[in-house]
Amino acid sequence: MDVALTFDDGYKKHLDVARHLAKRGIKATFFVIAGLKEYMGKELLSPAEIKEIASLGHEIGSHTMTHIDMTKAPEDVIVRELVESKKYLTELVGAEVTSFAYPYGPHSGLAAKLARQIYKIARTTYIGPAEGYNLLDEHGCVVAFNLRLSNLYELAKLRALDRLVLFTHSPSTIKLGLILTPLRLLGVKFLTISELSWS
Ligand SMILES: [Zn+2]
Repeated sequence: MDVALTFDDGYKKHLDVARHLAKRGIKATFFVIAGLKEYMGKELLSPAEIKEIASLGHEIGSHTMTHIDMTKAPEDVIVRELVESKKYLTELVGAEVTSFAYPYGPHSGLAAKLARQIYKIARTTYIGPAEGYNLLDEHGCVVAFNLRLSNLYELAKLRALDRLVLFTHSPSTIKLGLILTPLRLLGVKFLTISELSWS
């Protein structure tokens, strides 16, 4: 099974996560908020730190400029947030940014259409039991399964899939180790979200 680990918002502590994973030969995808220095009272990665994460071999994706709610924002704001963050991050990391994650997860058909015109991959989230998980939603968006310490046992139910995208909320390196161990036991291959096959 190919697994893409994804991390949202670009918190400062994601630099430790990125280094921890790189040391273990694991590549992941970090969806960063491109236009804020702080979110939910927590400091976000600096431009230099985002560049360092990219240089470790990880993928940088966009999570908009300002973490807008795409179910409520008007079309011009959605387009601006999608385009500006892509341009800014592409220039920052020196490679085209082709993956995007919706802030909060939910999105309208319009937001999905716009995101998928500008990015190859638009990722949303799923919080629920493994039985209800599908890799793609009705808009063709990639769905990340929300993996927490409290639902690690759900991994066993997902192991029949050939591809899996996981979303873990702002983990410490200790929690990350606890999540990686069962994945390793399942013999998964870790790829960035854009390296998974999306034919
Ligand atoms: Zn977010």
